[in-house]
Amino acid sequence: IVARESAADGDALALALGHACPTAHAADSEPLGPILTDFDQATEAARRAGDPALLAHLLVRRGGVHSLRGDFAKALRDALEADELLAALDAPTARAVNAQAIGIAYRRMGDVENAERRLKASLDDPAFRDDWAHRITSLSNLGYLYDEIGRPDEARRWFDAAIALCTANESPADCAHARVGRAAVDAVHGRPDAALRIAAQARADFEAADVPVDDATLALIRGQALAALGRHDEAIALLDAAVARWRDESNARDLALALDARASAFEASGRWEDAARDLRELVEVRRRAQDAQSAQRTEFLRETLEAREREAENARLRESERQRSLEIEALSERQRWQRVAAALALLAAILLGWIVLRQRWRARSLRALAATDPLTGTANRRTLMAEGERLSDRVRSDGEGFAALVIDVDHFKSINDAHGHAAGDEVLRRVATTCAGALRGDDVLARSGGEEFVALLPRSGIDAAVLAAERIRAAIEALDLDDVAKGLRASVSVGAATYDACDDGIDSLLSRTDKAMYAAKASGRNRVSVAATSAPPDGAA
Ligand code: GH3
Ligand code: MG
Ligand code: MG
Repeated sequence: IVARESAADGDALALALGHACPTAHAADSEPLGPILTDFDQATEAARRAGDPALLAHLLVRRGGVHSLRGDFAKALRDALEADELLAALDAPTARAVNAQAIGIAYRRMGDVENAERRLKASLDDPAFRDDWAHRITSLSNLGYLYDEIGRPDEARRWFDAAIALCTANESPADCAHARVGRAAVDAVHGRPDAALRIAAQARADFEAADVPVDDATLALIRGQALAALGRHDEAIALLDAAVARWRDESNARDLALALDARASAFEASGRWEDAARDLRELVEVRRRAQDAQSAQRTEFLRETLEAREREAENARLRESERQRSLEIEALSERQRWQRVAAALALLAAILLGWIVLRQRWRARSLRALAATDPLTGTANRRTLMAEGERLSDRVRSDGEGFAALVIDVDHFKSINDAHGHAAGDEVLRRVATTCAGALRGDDVLARSGGEEFVALLPRSGIDAAVLAAERIRAAIEALDLDDVAKGLRASVSVGAATYDACDDGIDSLLSRTDKAMYAAKASGRNRVSVAATSAPPDGAA
């Protein structure tokens, strides 16, 4: 019950077990129809669960139920499928038992060749070497088989082998069936006395084994034997019982044997009409039995064909499923590589961007390095000259004038001498900062060499230039340099000039401004001096 309830949650295996367990106990005693329904559900569940061991077990059992119902085609189909599963599962004993069931099903369907092959193979099977009970079943079935195809001597040999084995193992139940088989052969094949004797032994066996006596079969055998011995009335009495019994059970095979024997007995005792009636029924019964057998064979062929078609269809489905998953795999592989490529491209772009930025930054700092004076951070001489040329060009092109200042620290050598070169450097830095502070934003301040600075003042006339120079001078004079050296003072001499008509470039302007600065030095230092206007280029002043 627990198994069936958990099956509601989709546990197919539990469902299979839920069906298999009760049926395993019920199969011997209960009506077979509902049991078969249970087995059908259970096998399907085991198939869905993909459990080959359970499926094989269920197929063997369901095949047994089909066989009990006389449905040998279905029995055979289940047993053959189980055989394949058991071969793959490496279960030799279960496979041998199943192979024997296959042989019996073939025999019941009248397929002599396959039945003979399977049953004989089961006797050679190592799994049955010490299993006398299963060996007896195979031996007896070979006996039935040869009896059915009219080879009584061989039938006797197999039955005798079965009887020898069951006697040695003291199994009266097995002996009863083997003796019934042997007696049935003797009764119709010229040994009626032996048949009667062996049939009596069989009855004793049934009683010793405490199993229900097969009265109808024993009556048939004794009837056949007595008829052969000419005891027709006794024979007819026994055969009446057998005929009545098998008509009820619609056992066509045995009914045919009984009718055949009784017709002969009627004939021998001159009861022609009774004989004719039995013979007419016999023809009908034989036809029915043959129809049933050939229907079974046809059904088996149909089932086999359908199973093959199903298998082929499944294989097709599996193949297309496999193709699909291969395609999906290829697709996701492609997507994976696309993602990797995209990631690499992004990484490369970032790297490239970083390299470009670094290059730019380096170039800029190189340019700055090339353009500035390392000690003071002002422009260097190269920048000064380039800027001077640019401003000179502007004068020539738009007439926009500019002025220059040359600023030289007074007695700087003595500062160096008195306080050391490092103090001199610091004074140079302070002077540069002070000059820059006294200039406008677009004025250019450069260190032109040693302790000399130059300022270029765009759009400045001489008055503005002098004002700026004076601002610088005063600011330097006011500089507090006590922290560099106690009592240290500094001053600058400044020359100022504007670019005028006679200048033909920055050099001439600077040279005039320089002269003005020297003039400031000469007239006592710490002062501003304005340059004289330049002489005309041809020197004619
Ligand atoms: P003057 O007032 O006539 O200009 O006298 P001065 O001593 O300033 O002029 P001079 O040309 O005789 O001396 C300049 C000194 O500046 C000589 C040199 O050692 C020093 N000097 C040049 N460049 C640097 C520098 O970068 N740092 C330091 N500390 N001293 C420097
Ligand atoms: Mg100087
Ligand atoms: Mg100097």
